[in-house]
Amino acid sequence: MIKVLDSFVADKIAAGEVIERPVSAVKELVENSIDAGAESIIVEIRGGGKSYIRVTDDGCGISFDEAETAFLRHATSKISGISDLDNIVSLGFRGEALASISAVSRLTMVTRRAEDMSGVKLVLHGGRVVSRERTGCNTGTTIIIEDLFYNTPARRKFMKTESRESSSIIELIQQYAVCYAGIRFMMINNGMTLFTTNGDGDSLAVIKQLYPSIARNGLLPVAYEHVNGFVSDPGSTMSTRKGQLFFVNGRLISSSVIEKGIEEGYQGRIFSGFPAAVLFIEAEPCDIDVNIHPGKQEIRFLRQDEVKSNIAEAVSRAVMTDAGVPKGFVKKIESAPEKKLNVDVRKKEETEQTSIREFLKSLDRKDSYEVPEVVEVTEVSEETEAVYVPVSSPAEALTEEIKKPAPFDFSELTFKGYVFNTYIIMQGSDELYIFDQHAAHERIFYERFMRGYNNSAHSPQPVLTAFTINVSNDVYSMSGEWLGDLIRMGYDIEDFGDCTFIVRGIPPYMSVGEAEGFARGFAEAAGEARGSNQVVIDKLITRSCKSAVKAHDVLSEQEITDLMSELAECDNPYSCPHGRPTFIKISSYDIERSFRRK
Ligand code: ADP
Ligand code: MG
Repeated sequence: MIKVLDSFVADKIAAGEVIERPVSAVKELVENSIDAGAESIIVEIRGGGKSYIRVTDDGCGISFDEAETAFLRHATSKISGISDLDNIVSLGFRGEALASISAVSRLTMVTRRAEDMSGVKLVLHGGRVVSRERTGCNTGTTIIIEDLFYNTPARRKFMKTESRESSSIIELIQQYAVCYAGIRFMMINNGMTLFTTNGDGDSLAVIKQLYPSIARNGLLPVAYEHVNGFVSDPGSTMSTRKGQLFFVNGRLISSSVIEKGIEEGYQGRIFSGFPAAVLFIEAEPCDIDVNIHPGKQEIRFLRQDEVKSNIAEAVSRAVMTDAGVPKGFVKKIESAPEKKLNVDVRKKEETEQTSIREFLKSLDRKDSYEVPEVVEVTEVSEETEAVYVPVSSPAEALTEEIKKPAPFDFSELTFKGYVFNTYIIMQGSDELYIFDQHAAHERIFYERFMRGYNNSAHSPQPVLTAFTINVSNDVYSMSGEWLGDLIRMGYDIEDFGDCTFIVRGIPPYMSVGEAEGFARGFAEAAGEARGSNQVVIDKLITRSCKSAVKAHDVLSEQEITDLMSELAECDNPYSCPHGRPTFIKISSYDIERSFRRK
């Protein structure tokens, strides 16, 4: 039943100018359709939504008697009292969207409940009911908004160009289509159908259909506690965060907490750019506050740290696996620059995408158009594509169907060769792996040094011939900041005067060459950083590892074997401390394909 909230409850609701642009109106209407239990939602716009918006659903509909009530401010069927605010499970709850939209447009609603013989057609202009009549119509609700902001010229001015407004709307519908893969979405723009999803619940299929560039290199399934979805392998990053979509309880949100969790989950394996991540997060309604943002695009997690570490764990379980090893020959995903719009797409044309492209071409103002992710026209890499784990969503269904990703098994590898004095070739059961000796060394050193630093007592191992380290004046004057750290790591090091330090003993876990390079690098790096908290130390060690590794050159087969077993023991054998991969893989299938055998 649609009731008007009392003013006490209404005042507790984050008030907001809900309708700022056509896309905000579309968002409210689509959310209403979802809340109404729709299985099919058609969104049609013209003129960027400025002149015409239609949202048609096959949801529960509204009765003749309540049709008008729905347009009163704070009229809602979704909550009734203050306690419900802590337990919101619907997308809407404020009961003001229809009131706000109808106040600034000419609005027509046609609606019918399944149990009613006839429906109702209601027309409002500027919020005033112009007509109400019974009508025959399908079950569900259609709302048509014409001439948005016709009576508020000031707000009309804030709208962007037609192409920008339509782009935002299309992007929004794509996002909902991914999240609600069980609902069939159809998007029509200026009379052209841009895409139709099939509503069978397979969110990965929708991602592939609507975001081909996110899915191009394959996505790794995420399934851990209440976090489900997909992330890209660490080698397939994008230059923006456009490939990151987060849905909390079915609500698309932006969240720095989630972004940080993802970053942590990759554990330094991202060398540059942002991984793609489509995550469906289930949270207890009482653990989140959705009522902090007028457009509801942000929510507050009441237990942020827990959320962050949960996300990190979920992502890490997905990428710290064999499937997460970067694939050779894979190009970096770029979001499509506009100028490429006219480029011919060579393969994998999906009709929906083609029509979007045609639509884009038809726009006269290409300059102002922000292309939603759909247009990926850079050359599709022929060589490789990860194996998709087919899953059917909704989010909860993901868990059962996903095979648990296995961690990487080094014991399966056999040594096959060593090339360019740098790369180690190993063979697995069905793949070839190429290890970067330097990256691997850096990782091993880094973990060894971090461990060395974190475990207090170290007795230095005396060196036969003491050596000295010469530093610049500024670094010398700051020795208080770094000398103690070296001693803690197990160096026997002493001020020798005149910008010089003498080393008589080194950490037991280093060779003399490594120890010398590391100490030098560490002192210099410390000269630039201040303080010695964990973050700084981590940075210093990361940088100094490089100096230690440089000492290494051509490896013997024994050294390669040692390197591999040391790498296998690392917490994160997959990347160097700077985020470069330590190894990549090429499947036998890819090799055969390159030889046109497949
Ligand atoms: P809210 O969604 O916050 O409840 P709205 O102003 O968006 O407020 O909608 C008011 C009420 O109208 C809803 O609570 C719902 O009962 C009804 N309603 C709106 N859109 C639809 C729809 N598409 N199908 C069925 N009922 C709807
Ligand atoms: Mg609503």
